[in-house]
Amino acid sequence: MTQRDGTLAGKVAFVTGAANGIGRATALAFAREGASVAVTDVADEGNRETARMIEALGGRALALRCDVARAADIEAALAAAAEAFGRVDIAFNNAGIEQPIRATAEIGEEEWDRIHRIDLRGVFLCMKHEIALMLRQGGGAIVNTSSGAGVKGFAGQAAYVAAKHGVIGLTKSAALDYAASGIRVNAVCPGIIDTPMMQRFAGGTEAGQQRVIAQEPVGRMGRPEEIAEAVLWLCSDAAGFVTGLAMVVDGGQTVG
Ligand code: NAD
Repeated sequence: MTQRDGTLAGKVAFVTGAANGIGRATALAFAREGASVAVTDVADEGNRETARMIEALGGRALALRCDVARAADIEAALAAAAEAFGRVDIAFNNAGIEQPIRATAEIGEEEWDRIHRIDLRGVFLCMKHEIALMLRQGGGAIVNTSSGAGVKGFAGQAAYVAAKHGVIGLTKSAALDYAASGIRVNAVCPGIIDTPMMQRFAGGTEAGQQRVIAQEPVGRMGRPEEIAEAVLWLCSDAAGFVTGLAMVVDGGQTVG
C-alpha cells in the first residue's frame, strides 16, 4: 500500500467478526482503499493479527474486543472507534456463527436462540448504535452479511436460514427508514466461501469439501477477497444510489 488516495481515503470503517475469513479480508480491503479500520471480534488474538496485517500494509487500525450479543460491547467499541479516528463512516456487520446440520424439529431452543442472538439480533444491535452515530454525523454506509441462506432454504439449516433471511428483511426496512438521512444500508449474500467457518462446516475432510463444492455451479469455493470486493463497492461512493439491496455473490449457487 499505502493508497491514501484510494476510494475510501479519509473514511473510517468498523468491522465485526474481523479476526478471520470474510471480515478480515474486508477489513484489509477497506484499509487498502485508504480507510482507517476499527476491527472487532470476540477472538482477540486473530483480531489483533488483522490489525497488525493492516499496519504492516501501512494502514491505520484499532483492534477492539466486541461480542455482538452484548449491546454494551457494541456501544463501547463504536465509541472507541469514533474517539480514535474521529467518526465512523462505514460499518460492516459481519460476525456470525454456523448451525450444525439438524432437521428443524431437532433444533433445541437454546441452539435457536444462540444462532439468532449472534446472526440476527447482533446485526440489529450493531445497526441500532451505528445508525445513531451516523445520524449525528450526517450519513454513512452499512453492509450486513446475510448469505445464500438468506435467499433460499437449505435442509438441516432452519435456524441459520431464518436468521439470514431476517438479516435481509432488517436491511431492507432500515434502508427505507434512513434513505432520506444519507445512510445507505445493504446486505451481501455470500455463497460457499473458503473460510474457517466453511472448513468447520465441511468437517475438515476432502469428502466434505467436495460435498460443499458440489453446490457451486462454478465448481469451486469463493475466496473471502471476492466478497470483500462486493462490500467495498457497496460502501463506496460509486454505489451512492444503491440502498436496500441484498447482493448475491455466490458463483451461481442460488440461481434457479
Ligand atoms: P469465520 O468463522 O471464519 O469468521 C467469523 C468471525 O466472527 C470469527 O472471527 C468469530 O470469532 C466472529 N464471531 C463469532 N461470534 C461472534 C460474536 N458473538 N461477536 C463478535 N464476533 C463473533 O466465518 P466467515 O465464513 O468469515 O463468516 C463471516 C460471515 O459470513 C458470517 O456472518 C457467516 O454467516 C457469513 N457467511 C459465510 C459463508 C461462507 O461460506 N463462509 C457463506 C455465507 C455467509
